Amino acid sequence: MAEKILIIGSGPAGLTAAIYAARADLEPMMIEGFARGGQLMITTDVENYPGFPDGIMGPDLMEQFRKQAERFGTRLVTADVTKVDFSQRPFKVWSGEDEYEAESVVISTGASARWLGIPGEEKLRGYGVSACATCDGFFFRDKEIAVVGGGDSAMEEALFLTKFASKVTIIHRRDEFRASKIMAQRALDHEKIEVIWDTVVEEVLGDNSVTGVKIRNRNTDEVTELKLDGLFIAIGHDPNTKIFEGQLELDEEGYIVAEGSRTSVAGVFAGGDVVDKVYRQAITAAGMGCAAALDAERWLESQETP
Ligand SMILES: Cc1cc2nc3c(=O)[nH]c(=O)nc-3n(C[C@H](O)[C@H](O)[C@H](O)COP(=O)(O)OP(=O)(O)OC[C@H]3O[C@@H](n4cnc5c(N)ncnc54)[C@H](O)[C@@H]3O)c2cc1C
Repeated sequence: MAEKILIIGSGPAGLTAAIYAARADLEPMMIEGFARGGQLMITTDVENYPGFPDGIMGPDLMEQFRKQAERFGTRLVTADVTKVDFSQRPFKVWSGEDEYEAESVVISTGASARWLGIPGEEKLRGYGVSACATCDGFFFRDKEIAVVGGGDSAMEEALFLTKFASKVTIIHRRDEFRASKIMAQRALDHEKIEVIWDTVVEEVLGDNSVTGVKIRNRNTDEVTELKLDGLFIAIGHDPNTKIFEGQLELDEEGYIVAEGSRTSVAGVFAGGDVVDKVYRQAITAAGMGCAAALDAERWLESQETP
């Protein structure tokens, strides 16, 4: 028998959708993904999620979300969805050989921040290496930090970080920014911002926290060390939507196009970072997951009423 609602992804958006759907007696089935818990599983302190005045570690917060979803009867399958067919109802969703059918689907597969893939980066994530200035800028009051990137979001992150840091160095691999003129100029004009052009970061230095980076000038090949307390990687995000290509309307960057939580297919809803490239926060993702579940519930009701 088809599930009433199937939720794909178990970050803040998916688990919030599950809590709402379960409490509405929709007996949700969640395919949570191998990266269960989502992006907050790879961070340390979360200090901006309301309800935790002393902050909470990312994995602990997601454990609480999960417990709450399970408490109301959400069934969880730890697997990745590999294929979907939204062309007819009930919708079909596969994880390898396993096939699921569902009357409605909530997609909350999130997005993945792009990383540089250099030595030291993974080890020091959450200990000075970050991909989110809004989340972690506060920890760098009066510290010297660097931002890697040259697009609008790198400029935004760098400008935001000037509120806290004593100095922000933008390290960019080319000799001009890809960012819009106005954003680039704002960054270039800022007294706390310095730019190192034509340069790539080759290694993040530090044992328990970031102490600096090894950088290489692409013109001269000269390698030098730059002392730093933090490194923000701002080279973009990839929405996790490969499996939805050809099934749903996606924008040019691969994000799901949605009106509220409604996607281009009636009965398929989406929320969180898979839709949102503006806010990218746990609280907004949770809010969007709630909206997706409520919309799915109402949509299912409307299908039952002739
Ligand atoms: C290092 C770091 C620190 C951060 N710190 C903060 C912070 O302090 N405060 C804050 O508010 N925000 C923070 N954020 C942002 C926050 O983590 C995200 O905005 C939020 O997690 C988005 O939630 P989501 O549910 O949309 O997606 P995600 O958290 O990305 O979860 C996506 C889920 O989808 C699953 N999935 C993906 N593909 C598939 C598939 N094919 N099949 C099944 N499942 C799939 C994954 O396994 C995962 O469970 C941080 C982000 C990062 C990277």
